[in-house]
Amino acid sequence: MHYVILRDDDTNALTPVNRLEKLYRPFLDRGLPVNLAVIPEVRLDARRPDGGIEGFLPGGHRPSAGTRRMEENPTLVAYLRANSGYHVAQHGCFHDCFEFDRVGQKAATHLMERGARRLHEAGFERPHAFVAPHDRFSRSGLAAAARRFEVVSTGWFELGRQPLAWWPHYSWKKARRAPHWQVGRTTLLSHPGCLLSRARAPETILPAIRRQVEGQRLTVLVTHWWEYFDAGQPVSAFVDVLHETADYLANTPNLRVISFGELARGGAPLS
Ligand SMILES: [Zn+2]
Repeated sequence: MHYVILRDDDTNALTPVNRLEKLYRPFLDRGLPVNLAVIPEVRLDARRPDGGIEGFLPGGHRPSAGTRRMEENPTLVAYLRANSGYHVAQHGCFHDCFEFDRVGQKAATHLMERGARRLHEAGFERPHAFVAPHDRFSRSGLAAAARRFEVVSTGWFELGRQPLAWWPHYSWKKARRAPHWQVGRTTLLSHPGCLLSRARAPETILPAIRRQVEGQRLTVLVTHWWEYFDAGQPVSAFVDVLHETADYLANTPNLRVISFGELARGGAPLS
């Protein structure tokens, strides 16, 4: 059996419901869980590492000071809660650039707690999984995430960013060439880069996904809802690929799509 976790990053208080609905209705209707990495209190002038405004802020949005909490968009919150196929993971707190790559232990814990509080205030259950903005952790940030969450999903793991006490586990993972591993109660998941990305030629995406999914036990597929739209209009060729991916995931024998929560409950082996 092969397992897939679909992770869509960057849902926040400014995300229009119709974008998520356009992308994920075919998944929800087939009972395929969609894990949304939700920004609890988005920074209204959040920047990418290259200094540009983040793509998850609305087009034509004029950067302004301040933040917006999920709770402040009751329409979005109600939509997410009404569709049980959506599963919320915590995506940082404000989504500041490299938010968890530049923090010590105290600041990381404080940010994580604030983000968790914001999701709780919006009425969401405690998330099982944590995703750092830009998939980057400092050593302290990673240790703080592992203390609080059952699952940490990121790009890849580097020795220099592991807490020292984890080094033996990490060496064993490296020796086995395992993409995912376990430290204490926490499962640490890597992913093979954003296969569902507009930077890729549409016709190459599904074949790359199939190779990846069929080549290992558990694959985390990462995408970003905002990449599928240009000035509010869906980019058809890319949306089509996402929906063909839903067909593939739903119709392939010996393949199950699961949520982070299901993984946390022991719902899939790591290798
Ligand atoms: Zn993000």
